[in-house]
Amino acid sequence: MKTMLTGIQSTGTPHLGNILGVIIPSIKITNKLKNASFLFIADLHALIQQKILKLETIKNNTYQITAAWLAFGLNTKKNILYRQSDVSEVTELAWYFNCFFPYKRLTLAHSFKNEKKNNYKKINVGLFTYPILMAADILLYNAEIIPVGKDQLQHIEITRNIANRFNKKIGKKLFLLPKAFMKKDTMSITGIDGKKMSKSKKNWINIFTSDEILKKQIMSIHTDNKSYYEKKNPYNDSIMSLYKLIAPIDRVENMKKKYLQGKYGYLEAKKALYEEIIKKFYVERKKFFSFIENKSLLDRILFLGAKKAKDIANKRLQYIRKSLKLI
Ligand code: AMP
Repeated sequence: MKTMLTGIQSTGTPHLGNILGVIIPSIKITNKLKNASFLFIADLHALIQQKILKLETIKNNTYQITAAWLAFGLNTKKNILYRQSDVSEVTELAWYFNCFFPYKRLTLAHSFKNEKKNNYKKINVGLFTYPILMAADILLYNAEIIPVGKDQLQHIEITRNIANRFNKKIGKKLFLLPKAFMKKDTMSITGIDGKKMSKSKKNWINIFTSDEILKKQIMSIHTDNKSYYEKKNPYNDSIMSLYKLIAPIDRVENMKKKYLQGKYGYLEAKKALYEEIIKKFYVERKKFFSFIENKSLLDRILFLGAKKAKDIANKRLQYIRKSLKLI
């Protein structure tokens, strides 16, 4: 039986990209698996962003992510929801990987290469070694199913590469090779500016906010400047691409028809998308706001999750230390 693991950085409140791309599919997988899945809040990864993030917001975002998982129905009795920094074993494993992985290979990671182009002087070592810590997150628990968005595909490849190199060096199959789990239509959800929705670009749609703010976000989705009367392209449009992931098929077909016929404005389409989002996530939003008010419950869930994760991590690490002939 395979193990599932996924993480979300505590760099903000989970947006629609995180929800459709990772939270909903992960919960479906956890319900199918017999054994516990690992879901963690990547606060150590979030620290890499400390230049643009106020430090005190990382903890607050941890609560936001925890409440989001719970709002979408994650079963925390069966599964393990924990804060990355509570399981310090992961940083020890990351160090071992640092020592076995070629520097040159890591310079090819997109996360580093993209930042290097724009921001060379401001890059910290954490950003450079981000994929190593992610490999440790996964390989510590020998997880094989990793629900992620498209942006993480290369990091999963690096993780497989690390596992392979390590196994060869040690001469046994210490680590299993993980695989990314993603679906074509949700692996890269578009933000309001037509680019990939991301916390750092602030182009998100955040359902865990007031109706007014949510409406404002949806009303700011970029479109071309076709008038109300003109025919529109439903196949290359940010409103439509979100609408078809959220609305029932008959309403999607209906909107498609209206786009193709004309006499249907983007404003109406945005209003329809807003209504659909409000309807679709009514329960989850309600639950989220009630969980977020109950910090002591969230703390308890994270405490129990950390305890379970730490216990497993500790045993694994002991075995890895032995394999490395350190003890
Ligand atoms: P992050 O918020 O960057 O920590 O991302 C958490 C998870 O959500 C990762 O697996 C990302 O690949 C995924 N993700 C982030 N943004 C999107 C998006 N726009 N569409 C689909 N998945 C996403």
